[in-house]
Amino acid sequence: MLDILIHPDPQLRVKCRPVTDITPQIRTLLADMAETMYAAPGIGLAAPQVGSEHRLLVLDVGDDEESARRGRLYKLINPEIRSRSGKTESEEGCLSIPGIRETIKRSASVVVQGVDESGNDLTIEAEGLLAICLQHEIDHLDGILFIDHLSRLKQQLVKAKYSKLRSAEHE
Ligand SMILES: [Zn+2]
Repeated sequence: MLDILIHPDPQLRVKCRPVTDITPQIRTLLADMAETMYAAPGIGLAAPQVGSEHRLLVLDVGDDEESARRGRLYKLINPEIRSRSGKTESEEGCLSIPGIRETIKRSASVVVQGVDESGNDLTIEAEGLLAICLQHEIDHLDGILFIDHLSRLKQQLVKAKYSKLRSAEHE
């Protein structure tokens, strides 16, 4: 089981490096991340959240249609958003920012390309929760957190609420 880093840990702001070789260590990392995500529990976890700078993530949004077709758990290496369309808004949270949930604007559907842990090309045509979760997790690989998408004013409010939560936790 891995430790999940908590905002404002600077490691969460690192831009991850593409994976050039899918070593046994990479496969172990993906397996440990999946276990950590399920235990949290969460629906997605990106490498920077466990202190790794590899461009990879795991996610399992449960019973949406695309997941049902392919099996529930994705282990995605070097994912890139190839196209987006539409707009949607939904409430998001993040295992690295406990206690904060905010409504975030995202693309309604995305096409993501990457490779799986065997090195096979993987194309995911996603909408709904899967599309939102993919955008959230891929943001993490570029050091972007969901609260970065809020207006400046809203970010200040969230920052104040978050530091209150954090200091209460440490009392
Ligand atoms: Zn997150």
